Amino acid sequence: MSGERTLKIKKQLHYRKVGESAPKVCRLCGHRKLVPIYRIGGELHKHDYRCEIIGLHNSIRYAVRDDHVCDRFAYFPKKTEQKGGE
Ligand code: SF4
Repeated sequence: MSGERTLKIKKQLHYRKVGESAPKVCRLCGHRKLVPIYRIGGELHKHDYRCEIIGLHNSIRYAVRDDHVCDRFAYFPKKTEQKGGE
């Protein structure tokens, strides 16, 4: 058997695989956050990506992948890219 059951919110937002070269992917989305993942006993296991829209929970079911996207994708402009005029 493969994988975990898909979260209801992932289905509602049409979270789907689009390929790493797609112009809109979780990897480029401002809602993606790198968060600490803890073991059941409370010790730090690793850091991994979660989504502030889907939920920043420990469970692997909340993981968002580089080559996926959902309907809430949003580019967040980086401050260093703000133009001051030419
Ligand atoms: S909002 Fe959607 S596209 Fe953006 S990180 Fe979350 S799941 Fe990925």
